[in-house]
Amino acid sequence: MLKLPIYLDYNATTPCDPRVVDSMLPYFTNNCGNASSNDHSFGWIARDAVEEARSLVAKLIGANAQNILFTSGATESVNIALQGIAKAQASKGKHIITVSTEHNAVLNTCKYLEENGYNITYLDVDAQGNISLESLENKITGETICIALMYANNETGTIYPVKEIGAMARQHHICFFCDATQAAGKIEIDVDRDKVDLMSFSAHKMYGPKGIGALYMRNKNKELNIPPLTYGGGQEYGLRSGTLNVPGIVGFGTSAMLCRKEMEADGGRLQLLRDWMEAALLSAIPGSSVNGGSNRLPHVSNILFPGTDNEQLLLALSKSIALSRGSACSSNVQKPSHVLKAMGLSDEEAHHSVRISLGRFVTEEEVIFAVDVIKKTVLEMNPSMIIRNCTG
Ligand SMILES: *Cc1c(COP(=O)(O)O)cnc(C)c1O
Repeated sequence: MLKLPIYLDYNATTPCDPRVVDSMLPYFTNNCGNASSNDHSFGWIARDAVEEARSLVAKLIGANAQNILFTSGATESVNIALQGIAKAQASKGKHIITVSTEHNAVLNTCKYLEENGYNITYLDVDAQGNISLESLENKITGETICIALMYANNETGTIYPVKEIGAMARQHHICFFCDATQAAGKIEIDVDRDKVDLMSFSAHKMYGPKGIGALYMRNKNKELNIPPLTYGGGQEYGLRSGTLNVPGIVGFGTSAMLCRKEMEADGGRLQLLRDWMEAALLSAIPGSSVNGGSNRLPHVSNILFPGTDNEQLLLALSKSIALSRGSACSSNVQKPSHVLKAMGLSDEEAHHSVRISLGRFVTEEEVIFAVDVIKKTVLEMNPSMIIRNCTG
């Protein structure tokens, strides 16, 4: 018996793995210490747990523990990184290059900088959602201080050529900031191989708790010299003051450790399910197509069902499955997805597209059920498709 509704919106947030919850529980009660309390064992226990988690989170992206800073999530990490690099390097130049399909955490931080005298280039993407390395290199000027580009897209799963971009940024002595919130814990990341200087990610997208994230900083900020956004007790190398969220950090560490061990098996299993699901939906629904090219995260599908209003479709499906129209942050706004629009889809096509994102706890049975109910509902909403379908 399936328990409905089935959650297929893992890119918006993942359920916490029960093993993560178990590891966190003692730090709410018995191990209640403040990680900055140096005078007693409660503080020492908390500090040790935080440092253990820092190592585990670092290991997930091939970093050293001392290069990881804990924050409240990817949005805060993005802000510390981008506002910070902008302030730190303003004397060198005020030009930042990013891409039109970034998450709003990056786009709106760039917009804020733009209003404050910075010059932002928003690179276009092709129909597959990817950028051209050549046009990126052409945009670099003597004033360019940062390239901000995500690892993988939250709406389509498209994976970007991060290693090539990292090499280009290094060659031009430009800081490379990468928002890896969707990629971390899903595909292998190595900040040295990819030559990333700053990287943001978040526990709640990788089976950890909400409200805890990380910022990776090369050279412990010695060369970048990023100033803090907030001032206080000087925690996290002075860059992120405030009492540490010890249970959240411990949970983040456990989720990073589990992802490191299980992502290959999880990814392989989910890719088979996802590919089967896409093939089944595309063959059942005339004119449907996948958005985002072929180099995508293994668990993500963004599908265009022509003539099918996505809001109506998701509402009709909501008792059986939970899908989304795109980014969770924008689904309360009626605007068509900026990611799909940047890929050349019309407003109408964007309004006819839905995101299905699978994850660790999704079963084969659930995917089979989901395909069936999506198929039925889309065909019911488009009687003309059924006729076309029957007459071939
Ligand atoms: C979810 C997400 C964010 C925001 O993360 P929070 O931890 O919720 O602040 C930023 N970037 C991308 C690509 C995301 O998917």
